[in-house]
Amino acid sequence: MSVVGIDFGNESSFVAVARAGGIETIDNDYSLRATPSFVAFGKRQRILGVAAKNQAVTNLTNTIFGFKRFLGRPFDDPRVQEDAKRVPFEIVRLGNGVGIKARFLGEEQVYTPEQVTAMMFTKLKETAEHGIQAKVHDCVISVPSYFTEAERRALLDAAQIAGLNPLRLFNETAAAALNYGIYKQDLPEPEAEARNVVIVDCGHSAIQVCVVAFNKGKLKIIASTSDSDLGGRNFDAALAAHFCVEFRSKYGIDPESDHKAYMRLLTEVEKLKKQMSANATKLPLNIECFMEEKDVSSSMCRADFEQICLMLFQRVEFVLQKCLEDSKLDITSIHSVEIVGGSTRIPGIKLLIEKVFRKIPSTTLNQDEAVSRGCALQCA
Ligand code: ATP
Ligand code: MG
Repeated sequence: MSVVGIDFGNESSFVAVARAGGIETIDNDYSLRATPSFVAFGKRQRILGVAAKNQAVTNLTNTIFGFKRFLGRPFDDPRVQEDAKRVPFEIVRLGNGVGIKARFLGEEQVYTPEQVTAMMFTKLKETAEHGIQAKVHDCVISVPSYFTEAERRALLDAAQIAGLNPLRLFNETAAAALNYGIYKQDLPEPEAEARNVVIVDCGHSAIQVCVVAFNKGKLKIIASTSDSDLGGRNFDAALAAHFCVEFRSKYGIDPESDHKAYMRLLTEVEKLKKQMSANATKLPLNIECFMEEKDVSSSMCRADFEQICLMLFQRVEFVLQKCLEDSKLDITSIHSVEIVGGSTRIPGIKLLIEKVFRKIPSTTLNQDEAVSRGCALQCA
């Protein structure tokens, strides 16, 4: 029976499998490798992954996302409370934990984050089974390095509800490191001085950095730092806040007062953010019939973006610097820096990596798939 590797991301998830001597990332039913971590409840059915994200704007209060951050956390956790304010669906107290409210088949329901995650896992399991044409039970699932015992336990429960048998949970940066180590043919011999490689994973909701010492057939994590509340979504929120102020004075509308408008704005600023990664010139932002039947338009260039997000960039630099300090390594003994995760495509983040580690970041690894591939390798 095949063992699959699952990267359960805050924004999107990936499934990989070790087959015929190689690792393969499996396409979903939309022929995409990334499956949005979205679960939606409809009048007639449950909707998962790509289809769930696609219908989000028309089914706001019943489309659940960002639930990875609720796993194993008490309702009173300040981070839960902060996130609850931002999402269009309702979060309620359920015992000490978090309950997620949604209307399903015409009735109000309250789900635990484990149940919602299990639904997402069911989709990933199905994707894997379809891809390899065999039943899937055994798996290795990635977890953020900063996940607590309670959060790990909640994730394991979710996997079990979905009929999966997690052989182990694997830290996301360690998975990327394993992926790096297995394919590098030129690592130092076991008794020679190790090669020190920094791995930076900046995703949608968090940044994780580690320094790994590699020898042939062996890897050791010598330092690991993270900020569990610093990722692409923080940059999106900063951009959205900027345009909210502008649209308030320019058009007399308040997108923050309307979940639907705010969600549309977030979608558009995320697109703009990605375009700014590839292009430094002024780029337009247009949303038709945004609020009160008004069309809105504005523009932004990369330099403006960097100014608006200055504080976030400073926090990124702090995490990078802290990891270097914790490793107690001299800068000259850092061999290279590997980047993974969608947000490491932001040029400002790449520049900070270069500033702190004095190395141009390299992309030996597949930026999106490295974690799932590392998980699949764990059990190959
Ligand atoms: P997490 O690791 O926090 O659980 P995740 O694994 O789902 O989340 P990723 O898929 O690594 O996250 O990254 C998604 C983030 O990367 C999103 O915020 C997305 O906007 C951002 N992103 C993707 N491509 C680009 C790009 N070209 N420029 C800037 N940001 C990008
Ligand atoms: Mg990730």
